[in-house]
Amino acid sequence: MSSTVEQIKSRLDITDVVQSYIKLQKAGANFKANCPFHNEKTPSFFVSPARQSWHCFGCSRGGDMFSFVMEIEGVDFLESLKILADRAGGGVEKIDKNRQNERLRLLQLMDEAVKFYETELRKNADVVAYLKKRGMKGETAKAFNIGFAPAGWNNLRDYLKDKGYSESEMEKAGMIIKSAKAQAGYYDRFRSRIMFPIASASGQTVGFSGRVFGEEGTDSGGKYINSPQTVLYNKSGILYGFDKAKNEIRQKDACVIVEGQMDAVMSHQAGAVNTVAVSGTALTFEHLKLIKRLTEKIIMAFDKDEAGERASSKGIDMALAEGFEVKIAVSPSGKDPADAVLDNPESWVKAVGEAKNVIEFYLELFDERKDIERKILPYIAVLQSEMEKAGWVKKISEKLKIKEDAVWDELKKVRLTPKPLGSLASKSHLEAKLPSGNPKQKQTRLDFMRNKLLGIALWQKDTKDPSLKPVIDEFIALKKEEIENCPTEKKNRLILEAELFFSEEASLANEFLKIKKEIEKEEIKAELENMTEKIKELEMANKSDESGDPKLKKYLDDFHKLTKKLNDIVFL
Ligand SMILES: [Zn+2]
Repeated sequence: MSSTVEQIKSRLDITDVVQSYIKLQKAGANFKANCPFHNEKTPSFFVSPARQSWHCFGCSRGGDMFSFVMEIEGVDFLESLKILADRAGGGVEKIDKNRQNERLRLLQLMDEAVKFYETELRKNADVVAYLKKRGMKGETAKAFNIGFAPAGWNNLRDYLKDKGYSESEMEKAGMIIKSAKAQAGYYDRFRSRIMFPIASASGQTVGFSGRVFGEEGTDSGGKYINSPQTVLYNKSGILYGFDKAKNEIRQKDACVIVEGQMDAVMSHQAGAVNTVAVSGTALTFEHLKLIKRLTEKIIMAFDKDEAGERASSKGIDMALAEGFEVKIAVSPSGKDPADAVLDNPESWVKAVGEAKNVIEFYLELFDERKDIERKILPYIAVLQSEMEKAGWVKKISEKLKIKEDAVWDELKKVRLTPKPLGSLASKSHLEAKLPSGNPKQKQTRLDFMRNKLLGIALWQKDTKDPSLKPVIDEFIALKKEEIENCPTEKKNRLILEAELFFSEEASLANEFLKIKKEIEKEEIKAELENMTEKIKELEMANKSDESGDPKLKKYLDDFHKLTKKLNDIVFL
């Protein structure tokens, strides 16, 4: 595996990879840009061609070309490997052979199924007429690869057999079902249904959702049936339309969430391209993780009736608890988004633009105290910010004309549902890969300076500067173990940081010694603080003792010595 990574790295340049997504400006030996992963006006995102790494000093993200592709495409490591392998060209496609080969075959099988259903759609004029009646344009249907599964039990099975796929592969991909009757064999899962291919974040079809059309579809499952969980399709981790929406989600810094595939497709057609669908399930923790890579703002679209019923939606709880800003868009004329777009595309886009904060929304919707307590307080209870909580408590007290204390008391009674395992606040898979990737971790001033020193030392380890060389060599010898244990990722970040901070510096040796002195000073200060505590304790214990405790005397002596040392350093 790692040799594949190395091969790709040797063939591609990180600058080219990054540049294919965002515009880079030259900055000395490096390149800079406004960070694509957080909002900013002055660039703090840097790419280092020398170390083939990137780092943002604003949001602390960073890494190599793979982590960049993972972040910007919203994909996992294997997908990023595939994307970059494609770029690197032939010869490196054999990734983790066995597993990848099976996966690849199943993905090809799904592509064949998409083709089959698309061809069938063109053959069925009544289905096309139905889609047109719903307002769907031909180009939209094409962009979303919408198709049709004809009536009958073996259409897809026979087609895929002709293409060389085995029944076991078709079953693994979730496209056929083994009959309960002993000799009947397999039959097509989707029959007489309009087919919506479900794609992974990188745009590969991994499953289908089929909407009933005509008679035969109704015999099994409801209006919609979906692919089962397969090696390709992780149900709770995929949002319909995400592959097509992701760039717009990042750019608009908001993700619109609708219920069904048709809603998502029509919302895209109307121009709200940052829309995804949950396809009938509740919003899951994995969905939120996917979205959080791109934005922390969610807009849930409901029609008016739904809004009331869905007031206690579990997904909203979870999103709020994870720090998302959640808004509610009510589709115009009270219809579902697909029909709202059919009526008037502009008014749908407008409704999305005018989405209201979820708590505000429900405060306006409900008047009864019991509704407010039961349906709104749980949302306030999970908020991370106490300030925000206080603001809502005030509003509720005003609306219900009761004291704020009474609202606080009720709020305290709200039982919080436990956080899901592996909360977003803990390290994600991606962050775990990037030692620098946890901006929430507090860095003390001392850590900060130690890292700076280490950065200069690593950057200048081969220096020929006669004033700098002995200082660096001594430092590296002293910190040998720490340097050996420092992950490459962190080293690269520290070097880049040093380079950006100090490349204009006239005397790096002076700067290095200055920081070293600063560190000593901070260390002594910390120790003095420590001793002050101990001295205080001893003084308290010896209050009545006139003769003086020898232990205390020693502490005081040490204390004075250290203070003198600190003064010496300061005035050196
Ligand atoms: Zn950033």
